[in-house]
Amino acid sequence: MRGAVIYAPGDVRFEDRDDPTIVDPTDAVIRLTASCVCGSDLWDYRGIDSVTQPTPMGHEYVGVVEEVGDDVHTLEPGQFVVGSFFASDNTCPICQAGYQSSCVHREYVGAGGAQAEYLRVPLADGTLVATPDLPPDDLVPSLLAASDVLGTGWFGAVAAEVTPGTTVAVVGDGAVGLLGILAASQLGAERIIAMSRHTPRQKLALEFGATDIVTERGDDGVARVKDLTDGLGADSVIEAVGTQESMLQAIRCTRPGGHVGYVGVAHGVALPGEELFYSHVHLHGGPAPVRRFLPDLIDRIWNQRIDPGKVFDLDLPLAQVAEGYRAMDERRAVKTLLRP
Ligand SMILES: [Zn+2]
Repeated sequence: MRGAVIYAPGDVRFEDRDDPTIVDPTDAVIRLTASCVCGSDLWDYRGIDSVTQPTPMGHEYVGVVEEVGDDVHTLEPGQFVVGSFFASDNTCPICQAGYQSSCVHREYVGAGGAQAEYLRVPLADGTLVATPDLPPDDLVPSLLAASDVLGTGWFGAVAAEVTPGTTVAVVGDGAVGLLGILAASQLGAERIIAMSRHTPRQKLALEFGATDIVTERGDDGVARVKDLTDGLGADSVIEAVGTQESMLQAIRCTRPGGHVGYVGVAHGVALPGEELFYSHVHLHGGPAPVRRFLPDLIDRIWNQRIDPGKVFDLDLPLAQVAEGYRAMDERRAVKTLLRP
């Protein structure tokens, strides 16, 4: 098969790779219908996470089951499935508590490289969720979004304890931040403040349910959010970037007793203990347990209650994956969809 491999920062190649096979009896192999480039892939692409050897890329996927191992009981070839970036058994105590991305048997599905034609998925019964039927083409982007960015934005909103009537602020206007807005809206937030300086992203934020736009960042951004919330700060803040500046902005936008849901992969974040102590802010986040939310998200997409696929603003053949990275790196695209 063919797939994307990163060799060095800025050097993504589309090349021949070994076809994945069933390794463990709990595996499935799927034929990918679509995959995409993640904001977190850019950490490698930009050399912020160092790439030391050629590495297959991609961890967001939807596809059709091609083959299953002898120990897979809930799936069969021909079914359309959505999975997450961590494989999970969905039965251990951690999974049962809803934290499948910390499953005691978790495996990183992305190790197989989902920007490709085929993908091996470990722990298939626990990891993959089948759709009711083969989806029409126009639902594929939204189902793909559920695989990571929607599930992650959703977890951000849940971790930030968004409930009906709350005021929410969202730090970060990438795909996860934008879908955090959609999640907050679906969860009943009354007011959603999107922090964004980019016009096309502001427009999408408003389509997804944002009620206010704040263009300032850092201390000025915090001051604007305070202005909009009677000087108190937001009840719930979703942090979807992962830098020192964005984390502090999120914490400082939150009112005492409020909650931050942080889902941007942290890079070099060091929190000041004394400030945190006096803030009275709850912090919860981490790699999203997307599997927890998949059945509900698939249902909302299937019934066309949400259209998270709108975050894809560049649709390319898989062979042009390198351009997909470049476009996101240069901020010409929010998110690139790839079709084998
Ligand atoms: Zn588990």
